[in-house]
Amino acid sequence: MAGAATKARLGARLKGLLGLPSRTAGLEGEARARADRLLDVRVVTGRTSPPHALEAWLAQHFGSADAVREQRVVKVTNIATLEATLFAPLRARRPIDGSSGGRNLADEIAATEDDPFCSPETGTPAEPFGRVRGAHMVSGANAAMADAHHAVLVFDTHDPLAFDASLVADLFSTGREWADRARADDAEAANYMLIWNCLWRAGGSIVHGHAQALLGSGLHYAHLERFHRAAVAYRGAHDRDLVADLVELHRDLGLAMESSGVTTIAHLTPIKERELLVIGRPGLDERDPAFTDAVARALIAYRDQIGVSSFNLALWRAPLDGRWPEFAPMVRLVDRGDPFSRPSDIGAMELYGTPIVGSDPYEVMSQLR
Ligand SMILES: [Zn+2]
Repeated sequence: MAGAATKARLGARLKGLLGLPSRTAGLEGEARARADRLLDVRVVTGRTSPPHALEAWLAQHFGSADAVREQRVVKVTNIATLEATLFAPLRARRPIDGSSGGRNLADEIAATEDDPFCSPETGTPAEPFGRVRGAHMVSGANAAMADAHHAVLVFDTHDPLAFDASLVADLFSTGREWADRARADDAEAANYMLIWNCLWRAGGSIVHGHAQALLGSGLHYAHLERFHRAAVAYRGAHDRDLVADLVELHRDLGLAMESSGVTTIAHLTPIKERELLVIGRPGLDERDPAFTDAVARALIAYRDQIGVSSFNLALWRAPLDGRWPEFAPMVRLVDRGDPFSRPSDIGAMELYGTPIVGSDPYEVMSQLR
């Protein structure tokens, strides 16, 4: 016991994610069992031999040549879902060809005003059932559809970063109203997904503030279907709820923030930089103010505390036909980096291997608080 307590103190002293192995080793009882069920954590050391001529350049870009000579990579895998991340802190500091060239994001956004989404009634097709109007947005059919039902939710305001809590609440209620209307004519279509790709870096083809909603039949959208299958297998193997255990695990490790029964976690296996998960309780409606407020707080912290301008957001919820009653709604949110960076943040490792991430979840959590 004394050993575990010592290890826990040691973990708390080691900065951020590098302290994760000793933090998990310091957990006791059910918390320790939960961490063992869910996490595989490895810290590995990479070594390089820089030539003398390179040292000044390395010091300029990475702080010191020694930081490059010996570097730690933290490899975290969620054993239940096989979501995994290679945390490589130096990656965030590496020099990147193709700089912003002094471009200003607010100017670029303003330069695209008077686009089709500034007049959505004439700039987007309607759907057979018409349009759904919220307090701050109106729906249109996506001109290039990705499923039998695929809407754009066009915000009244052109600037996609001019959002507030009221817009976020309106987004979740307008999206759901659209899904219910679309489903009225197609009962088979129960798999509802609400997504927001903010700016080109995140895959947004139009700058004007907008989100999208999809409604499909058959299996749910693939990433969510896969996660749900992992949750079913986890329940079978451990008689535990995977999402509840994920929340508890992040709380045990100091990576969770709770408000009115909704928890925001700085994810230990982020898909890319600074991933946050906002998680409700099973049966909670995603339009519940406790849930939408937590999503809004995360988005506003992203924009105002962390300086994120381009992000992807997705709502994961149970199908609308009553399947998966045990599945808690969650929003997943990820930072896509500098909109003016030329290289994509997604490469072969992200698509086919294990995502490589430079940001530390402990830093993200302290910025959120
Ligand atoms: Zn516009």
